[in-house]
Amino acid sequence: MQIYWTPIQQVVQEARDTYTFKLELPGGFTWEEGAHTHFALEGFNQGDKPNRTLIRHMSISTLPHEGAIGITTRVKPECSTFKSMLRDMKIGDKVAIFKTYSNVPLKREGKNVYLLSSGVGIATFRPLVLAYSANREGVPHLHSLNVDSSQQYLFSDVFESTDTFTSEFVDSRPVYYEKVETLASDQDGLFYVVGSDDFLHETIATLRQNGVTPDQIMLDKHDFQFEDFLKA
Ligand SMILES: Cc1cc2nc3c(=O)[nH]c(=O)nc-3n(C[C@H](O)[C@H](O)[C@H](O)COP(=O)(O)OP(=O)(O)OC[C@H]3O[C@@H](n4cnc5c(N)ncnc54)[C@H](O)[C@@H]3O)c2cc1C
Repeated sequence: MQIYWTPIQQVVQEARDTYTFKLELPGGFTWEEGAHTHFALEGFNQGDKPNRTLIRHMSISTLPHEGAIGITTRVKPECSTFKSMLRDMKIGDKVAIFKTYSNVPLKREGKNVYLLSSGVGIATFRPLVLAYSANREGVPHLHSLNVDSSQQYLFSDVFESTDTFTSEFVDSRPVYYEKVETLASDQDGLFYVVGSDDFLHETIATLRQNGVTPDQIMLDKHDFQFEDFLKA
């Protein structure tokens, strides 16, 4: 397994308590839209076993042509050890990334694609929207629906509706589920879902109750985890 130690280039505040840490692009490092990585802080691999307090899964919120690896996350005043260490890091400090993989690249199968996310989960979808705006082939329509009770909606520049891309932000779960029911009427659509496990379970249940089949649902999970979600 290759571990890339790379410096923080820039920290961009996206909204209240929400930051994108832009990391220098190591030579030879690349990824597909929808990728997640393991993001770790100094010391994570110094003991016999990896120190999980210092490792988090994170999606990459940028594409390679943007020249940086973007990691977007919330850092609230009351937070985990990992987030408080991250908050104290300076430009030039190094972090580690490894095991980078995309379970959710944009499928170009001639079907409409629906991106359903909660909160900062929308970060996973930013590169899919960028990939789509560069090349619309195989995706007649792309739609994003994000629910965020804090109303701190992210990436409004990228998530701006066009003729074949539409984007909605809502601030309540009931309104979100009503909209999911309406979207599920597209019996041929592909539904990508990103958020907490509870959010995934509830969104999948709503989709399934409205006739969507498992092969129409994409999650950022390994196959074995995916099956657990669809069984529940
Ligand atoms: C494939 C994948 C991709 C992901 N992508 C992203 C991403 O792009 N961005 C992202 O932000 N997350 C992402 N996550 C989730 C991420 O891995 C973390 O679980 C999440 O960011 C919370 O980490 P944490 O260190 O804040 O909280 P954890 O330590 O995991 O604790 C969970 C919650 O407990 C609370 N908490 C913990 N410790 C304290 C404390 N000392 N004081 C007060 N409250 C506390 C916090 O509210 C926290 O949210 C992804 C997860 C997966 C599996």
